[in-house]
Amino acid sequence: MTGRMRTINIPIFVPHLGCPNDCVFCDQHKITMNAFVPNAERVRALIEETLKYTDSLSTPVRIEAAFFGGSFTAIDGELRRELLSAAHEYRGRIDGIRLSTRPDAIDESILSELRAFGVTAIELGAQSMSDRVLRLSNRGHTSEDTRRAARMIREGGFSLGLQMMTGLVGDDRETCLYTAREIIALRPDTVRIYPCVVIPGTRLWDMAERGEYTPQSVSEAVSVCAELIPMFTRENITILRVGLMENEILSSGEVKGAYHPSLGELCYSRVFYNAACRELERTGAPKRVEIRVPPRASSKMTGHKRENIEKLKARFSLGYIKVREDESLKDFEVQVNCV
Ligand code: SF4
Repeated sequence: MTGRMRTINIPIFVPHLGCPNDCVFCDQHKITMNAFVPNAERVRALIEETLKYTDSLSTPVRIEAAFFGGSFTAIDGELRRELLSAAHEYRGRIDGIRLSTRPDAIDESILSELRAFGVTAIELGAQSMSDRVLRLSNRGHTSEDTRRAARMIREGGFSLGLQMMTGLVGDDRETCLYTAREIIALRPDTVRIYPCVVIPGTRLWDMAERGEYTPQSVSEAVSVCAELIPMFTRENITILRVGLMENEILSSGEVKGAYHPSLGELCYSRVFYNAACRELERTGAPKRVEIRVPPRASSKMTGHKRENIEKLKARFSLGYIKVREDESLKDFEVQVNCV
């Protein structure tokens, strides 16, 4: 809903290598057993392939190489420098290099190295700012580690991204809202919100099987994420993603917890539903209404299979609803007019 230039990420998966931890929800150990470890040649091939595609586009795009997967700054130093150096060869042709890592795998010498190789953005897997939730999830770091690393990244001139999860062990709506407030206080440029998905073979799966943990349902995740999204947007923090990217394991149907292939859409749709409810309550809910929403937001307002419209009709006894886009509105602003 903004006029920002489209960004194309070149995803370069670097498996668990070097991650000293064993978070209860993580299946990287399993994935890593068979995972292909990229080398400089692979990095070059992936970038070349993307450049071939982007060269054929008529509109300008921002291109970033993105190292994701495990904890990039904790992998073997020689391999890390090999991969970064290959991406750095494309400076001028790509616009940035981003990576994700753990909060306790950041220090000044790592940041100097990343700067020398042209890294522009660092994302930290904060996951929660509740130390209790972090402990129960066996994250192996504290919220203070996240605060310290976030400060260093910002002061080091990098773009800061923070990732949070919902539905972890010991988590509830309050701790999620607390985490979002604490993340906002760290002034990240971007966030990602990942409702927890429970994957077979993880410790979390066993905990759920034993009844020691109740996975967050899709509907609980949608409800809490619909509160988190406007909190970040109000603070001009770009939300890069809500919900995990689909992959073979997730779409196998053998997972528990908050997995839905269109989870992000469901969450944004709920944000508009909530906004429309507030407006209808404020205006006294006339029988026939026009709901105005920002450009490109009408499908989110309408909802999947017109779900939002039907729910609004039932809840406010409305006879007629028309959704219309209005250039003067932005983000999640909604206006209700009597027609
Ligand atoms: S830090 Fe990341 S890669 Fe390591 S175990 Fe935890 S989730 Fe997995």
